[in-house]
Amino acid sequence: MSSQITDGPAGSAGTHRLPQERRVVTEIPGPRSRALQERRTAAVAPGVSSVLPVFVTDAGGGVVIDADGNSLIDFGSGIAVTNVGNANPRVAERVAAQAARFTHTCFMVAPYESYVEVCEALNRLTPGDHDKRSILVSSGAEAVENAVKIARYATGRPAVVVFDHGYHGRTLLTMTLTSKNMPYKQGFGPYAPEVYRMPMAYPFRWPGGPENCGPEAAALAADQITKQIGAANVAAVVVEPIQGEGGFIDPAPGFLPALAAFCRDNGILFIADEVQTGFARTGDLFACEHEGIVPDLVATAKGIAGGLPLAAVTGRAEIMDKVHAGGLGGTYGGNPVACEAALAVLEEIESEKLVDRARMIGDLMLPRLHALAGRHDEIGDVRGRGAMTAIELVRGDGSKDPNPELTAEIARRCHAAGLLVLTAGTYGNVLRFLPPLVIPEHLLLEGLDLIEAAFAAQTTASAALSS
Ligand SMILES: *Cc1c(COP(=O)(O)O)cnc(C)c1O
Repeated sequence: MSSQITDGPAGSAGTHRLPQERRVVTEIPGPRSRALQERRTAAVAPGVSSVLPVFVTDAGGGVVIDADGNSLIDFGSGIAVTNVGNANPRVAERVAAQAARFTHTCFMVAPYESYVEVCEALNRLTPGDHDKRSILVSSGAEAVENAVKIARYATGRPAVVVFDHGYHGRTLLTMTLTSKNMPYKQGFGPYAPEVYRMPMAYPFRWPGGPENCGPEAAALAADQITKQIGAANVAAVVVEPIQGEGGFIDPAPGFLPALAAFCRDNGILFIADEVQTGFARTGDLFACEHEGIVPDLVATAKGIAGGLPLAAVTGRAEIMDKVHAGGLGGTYGGNPVACEAALAVLEEIESEKLVDRARMIGDLMLPRLHALAGRHDEIGDVRGRGAMTAIELVRGDGSKDPNPELTAEIARRCHAAGLLVLTAGTYGNVLRFLPPLVIPEHLLLEGLDLIEAAFAAQTTASAALSS
């Protein structure tokens, strides 16, 4: 099975620019990174924090190089952004060429073709073959916020429904839509009005068990919306087809289709937040495709432009066309350099067959993670699709109590060994894996070895402690 993916597509260059190897030559973080961290502490507000304070000097394929010369295996992709790899040659070339031509006119002042071309591509590629329109903005939060603005305008209704464990951004509205208090909301209120939260179809923690989770959760949401808000007052439901920051919660089968049907029956717009799941990450171009969901509006960002700040709202033409001229936009939205990056990303996804490759990454990782879970009862759940997979850590012995301490300890061991992994989850007890889709297979396997070694070392350490 694993022999299907060998070296990993290096993109249009044919080979990777950087040696695709893990190399740990200092402690992590090393002396240079620690010195930079001191300067950072004196200059940067602590509200912006970092998972791993190694300062990056270079990156590409499946590795990130730090200031001390360490080469870390990248299982983060800058949070599902560098799907086509860092410094992808096609992206780098188009970005450089555009930067040399012009960096900005403001699309609202004088337009340019690449913006239109990105919108045409999004209209063609997002789920559903209906007539669509798009707008371009600069961040995922801005995309979600604009989707809500458009939905309210088009329906004339105020209420917005979101779900437990959802994450939608850090602006006032999107922070309000976000479920988790600490660190995203604590002290930043009062929040925006007319936002209602429903239980999520979270199979691992559904009281009625995973088999019943999808239909039960959908019925519960429909009932609560009807009783507590009144369906006729709801402009939109906003949902991530696999929840990202909330812990890669893959909604139980049947939940999203039933929710979409309820929305359709009640004139409620279905907004898919595909900011983290989009652009081949889950083994489909968009995660909604997995259950054949056709959203009314789709918010995209992260993987869209290889790290250049770009995001979009794509939706049904009759909804998007309602908003008056000047009602949407922003100074930087659809920046021409970012648009060139997006066009390169879309070419790369197609030419390097990255949708298939994300599936192969999942086919390689999930069996290994399930086997690991068989050996460690602190791994309560293994989930995800394609190159968006996760394990949820619990106290073990059948207990589902979250285990954030063990999660932090395993992440620490991985980081020290030169594997960049991220945590997630409402309870901080999820290790999530988001390798670039171009990562060579040997690095993927080595990363999995390191995760297994971290669990083995932790088991030995805690056995020694308790004897
Ligand atoms: C990251 C993320 C956002 C916010 O995107 P930003 O670019 O950080 O504003 C919104 N929704 C989801 C699902 C995300 O993962």
